[in-house]
Amino acid sequence: MITAVLPTYARIDLEFERGEGCWLVTTDGRRFLDFTGGIAVNVLGHAHPYLAEALSEQAKKLWHTSNLFRIPGGERLADRIKAVTFADTMFFTNSGAEALECAIKMARKYQFASGHPEKNRIITFEGAFHGRTLATIAAGGNAKYLEGFGPAMPGFDQVPFGDLDAARAAVTPETAAILVEPVQGEGGVRVPPSGFLKGLRALCDEKGLLLVLDEVQCGVGRTGKLFAHEWVGVTPDIMAVAKGIGGGFPMGACLATEEAAKGMTLGTHGSTYGGNPLAMAVGNAVLDLVLADGFLDHVNAMSTRLVQRLAEVRDRHPSVIAEVRGQGLLLGLRCAVPAADLVTALREEGMLAPGASDNVVRLLPPLIVSEEEVGIAVEKIEAACRRIEDRLVAAPVQGAAE
Ligand SMILES: *Cc1c(COP(=O)(O)O)cnc(C)c1O
Repeated sequence: MITAVLPTYARIDLEFERGEGCWLVTTDGRRFLDFTGGIAVNVLGHAHPYLAEALSEQAKKLWHTSNLFRIPGGERLADRIKAVTFADTMFFTNSGAEALECAIKMARKYQFASGHPEKNRIITFEGAFHGRTLATIAAGGNAKYLEGFGPAMPGFDQVPFGDLDAARAAVTPETAAILVEPVQGEGGVRVPPSGFLKGLRALCDEKGLLLVLDEVQCGVGRTGKLFAHEWVGVTPDIMAVAKGIGGGFPMGACLATEEAAKGMTLGTHGSTYGGNPLAMAVGNAVLDLVLADGFLDHVNAMSTRLVQRLAEVRDRHPSVIAEVRGQGLLLGLRCAVPAADLVTALREEGMLAPGASDNVVRLLPPLIVSEEEVGIAVEKIEAACRRIEDRLVAAPVQGAAE
């Protein structure tokens, strides 16, 4: 019999009762070091007192009014984000996929408003993940996510990630924009070759295309800058953000320059919940902490330390870990055994980390992770590697090691 909750997830049989910073506690009292972080969402960990206070203060006053009225918290948050990014304007959403939907609509509408209705196709990249709505599964191009859902929404042309020549070759008179993750998350924590984003920017400028970045996973401090594109000095025309921006409260945003947003006039887009007072109260509180002096320095310091220690673990356990990669605290362990085996072994050691494509285990700790917790994580990863090696000795798996 079907479960009451639609069974689209193979859920791990753990029930959590509460969280404390980087730790999750089950209903039967077991503690797990949480390097899943709600899939790069809980940038400030669990039950952060400052966020809890912001949410409960707002909850006592006003939850929801709709976008038919002004929402002061949203105006304030937009002004603050505008002050620290390329953006002149933004639309608040409830999720990443909705932020991407807004970005895709906006890119098409920009070309329409510029007198080019024929320019409505968007170049995307293999391994991309942009969400699970009909438009975003078409943009992502993952056959597994498209199968059975009828005709894929037209308008997306996919080329290999990191391949500037392929992107250039894919531009036609119908191209409106290029959509890319500065660092692919679900695709396996893939950092593109240096010069890739700069090259895409130049290509967009040359051909009159918009550069649309998906920073849903890599944004909001995750890579050690507020947004990942800052590392390479490239600014987009449009950018989708979500995950970390709400710290666990469902929230996203589509940021844009005034020029890119010029087609999005009165009545062209909307959302009942998007940017509601509860979300905006939490969003402002998240921003208070992420923009505080030293926050990003901490992310970079913890990243350096973690990457160093992980490189040593890889050297000691090459039959389990093939490569350590990523940026900031968006890190990936490409495995020499099935990545799912490492995920399981980590859980047996009391640590949670999600998988990704390309046989990768992701490490997505809350950005407030301490030096001590980084040390504990490395010990648990090492212990998980030993567990797997012991099993490999007991029952060698043909072809599992590289
Ligand atoms: C998670 C994710 C999305 C989709 O976000 P949802 O909130 O699940 O809709 C889009 N793009 C990237 C890069 C993501 O990691």
